[in-house]
Amino acid sequence: MRILSLYKSHFTKLASRRNFHRTAPVLNLLIEKPEFSWLKDLGLESDNKGVFDGQWKAGSGQVVESICPSNNEPIARISTGTISDYNQAVNNAKEAWQVWSEVPAPQRGEIVRQIGHALREKLQLLGKLEALEVGKIALEGVGEVQEFIDICDYAVGLSRMLPGQVFPSERPGHALLETWNPVGLVGVITAFNFPIAVYGWNAAIALTCGNSVLWKPATTVNLSTIAVNKIMVDVLESNNLPPAVCSLVCGGADVGEALANDSRVDLVSFTGSTPVGRKVGTTVQNRFGRKILELGGNNAVIVMDDADLDLVVVGTLFGSVGTQGQRCTTTRRLIVHEKVYDQVLERLKKAYKQVRIGDPLEDGILYGPMHSKAGVDLYKKTVAEARALGGTIEVGGEVIDRPGNYVEPTIVTGLAHDSPLVLRESFVPVLFVLKLKGGIDEAIQWNNEVEQGLSSAIFTKNLGDVFKWMGPKGSDCGLVNVNIGTSGAEIGGAFGGEKATGGGRESGSEAWKQYMKRSTCTINYSKDLPLAQGIKFE
Ligand code: NAD
Repeated sequence: MRILSLYKSHFTKLASRRNFHRTAPVLNLLIEKPEFSWLKDLGLESDNKGVFDGQWKAGSGQVVESICPSNNEPIARISTGTISDYNQAVNNAKEAWQVWSEVPAPQRGEIVRQIGHALREKLQLLGKLEALEVGKIALEGVGEVQEFIDICDYAVGLSRMLPGQVFPSERPGHALLETWNPVGLVGVITAFNFPIAVYGWNAAIALTCGNSVLWKPATTVNLSTIAVNKIMVDVLESNNLPPAVCSLVCGGADVGEALANDSRVDLVSFTGSTPVGRKVGTTVQNRFGRKILELGGNNAVIVMDDADLDLVVVGTLFGSVGTQGQRCTTTRRLIVHEKVYDQVLERLKKAYKQVRIGDPLEDGILYGPMHSKAGVDLYKKTVAEARALGGTIEVGGEVIDRPGNYVEPTIVTGLAHDSPLVLRESFVPVLFVLKLKGGIDEAIQWNNEVEQGLSSAIFTKNLGDVFKWMGPKGSDCGLVNVNIGTSGAEIGGAFGGEKATGGGRESGSEAWKQYMKRSTCTINYSKDLPLAQGIKFE
C-alpha cells in the first residue's frame, strides 16, 4: 500500500512537470476527495500530527492510516507518538497544571462551557467523522458528541458547587473540615467504540476539578481524537491558558503501558476490554496509584411473562443491534419466560430482518459495518462456535458480500444459559435468546452468573419483581433498568459496572470525587491543645 502510494504521488508529480494537461490527480486518501472535504473543517489534513504536548507534533513513531470501515479505504495518515514523545507530553502537562490548578473552579467551569459551545458548533461534523472512522451510524455519532456536550453542561454546574464538608469538632475551639483538591495529572486511555464520549466524561469533570489531562486513544480512531483535541486546545489558547492542560499522544499499547506504570500520572482512567483492564489495573495498583476501570459487559435483558412486548422488541432491537453490537452495554443475552418465548422470538426475528443495513453516513441507515476486520473475524468465530455447540441461527449468521466490514445481525437460540460462549463477552452483533422456565429468582441468577456486571434490564409490570431486581439479591450490575433496554444511559447517573467491569464510575452522580483528593483538616483556634477522645498526655 505504502509503495503503491509513493509510486502514485511520484507519477502525479511527473505528470504535472511534463505538462500533461488536465491529468486527474490520483487520490489515495478519502480526505483528498471532494465529497470528504468537510473533514478539513475539523482541522484534519492528509497528514496529521498525532502528538500534542503544548504544540502539535508529528510523533516520532509509526505513520499509520486511519481506515474507513465501510469500504476499508484510508481516510488520512497520522504520525503517532513513541515513549519519548509520551515523556515530553507528561512533563509539559504537569507544568501546565501549575497554572491550571490555580485558576478558580468557576473560571475553569467557564472554559469547559466554552469547550461545550465549540463542540456544539461542530456537532454534525464530528458525528459524521465518527460514522466515517468508527462505522457507527451518523445519528449515533452525533449522539456521542452530544453526550460530551451534556457532560460539559454538568461540569459547569459542578464548578460552582464543588462541595466540602464541615463537621462538628468534639474539642472546644476547633474546626473540622474536609477539603478537596485536584489529583494533578489524569491519564485517560480510551476504547475504539466511544472515542469521543468516553474522553468527554473524563475530561470535562477532570478539568473542572483542576487537573491536566493526557489522552491515549485507541489506535484505530486517531482522527476523531485529533479533531476533538484541536477544539479543546483552541479554547485554551484563546483564553491564554497553557494548552498542554489537554495533551494527547496517539500511540499503541506501549504508550498505554508506560502511562499505567508512570507514577507521575496521578490517576489512570482506563476504558477498554476486561483482559487489558486487568493488566492496567494490576500495574497501577502495584505502584499504589489511583485508577478508574470501565471494562467489558455481558449484558442481559429479562422478559417476564407479564411484560409489555412492544417495549421489549424496541428496547432489545436497539440494545442488541445498535453500533453493530459494539457497545459496552450491548444486549448480548435475552432471557425470556417460556410463556412469551415464541412470541418474543418471532417478533424480534421480524424486526431484525427489517433493519436497514448500509453506509453509516446515509440517512435512514440503522446498521453499519463492524469497526475493523478483526471484528468480522470475531463474528465468524462466534457464529461458528455457536453452531458447533448445537445452537440454532434464527436470523443472520453470515458475512455480507459487499465492500467493508459488514456482517448480519444475528440471533442464536438453543444454547444453555451457562454455555461458555454465552458467558463470554463477544464484541459482535450476536444475541443469545434463552428460555426461562423458573421465576424471578432464576432469572436474576442467570443475569448474575457472568464475569462482568455492567448493564441489565427487566421487563415486567410486577412491582414485587421490580423491587427484588433492584434490591440486595437483585441484579449485580452497575446499571439496573426496568422496562427499558440495556443501552443508552443518561449522563446524570453514574455510569459503570461491578465485578470484572472494573467497579469504576467515570462520570455522573458523585464521580467527580475520583478526580480529586480529600484532606481532613483540623484547625485549632483556641489557646489549648486538647487531644481527641479525651486522652491526657501529661
Ligand atoms: P482494548 O482493551 O483492546 O483497548 C482499549 C485501550 O487500551 C486502547 O486505547 C488500547 O490501545 C489500549 N491498550 C491496549 N493494550 C494495552 C496495555 N497493555 N496497556 C495499556 N493500554 C493498552 O478495547 P477496545 O477493543 O478498544 O474496546 C472494546 C472493549 O472496551 C469492550 O470490551 C467494551 O465492553 C469495553 N468498553 C467499556 C466501556 C465502559 O464504559 N465500561 C466503554 C467502552 C468500551
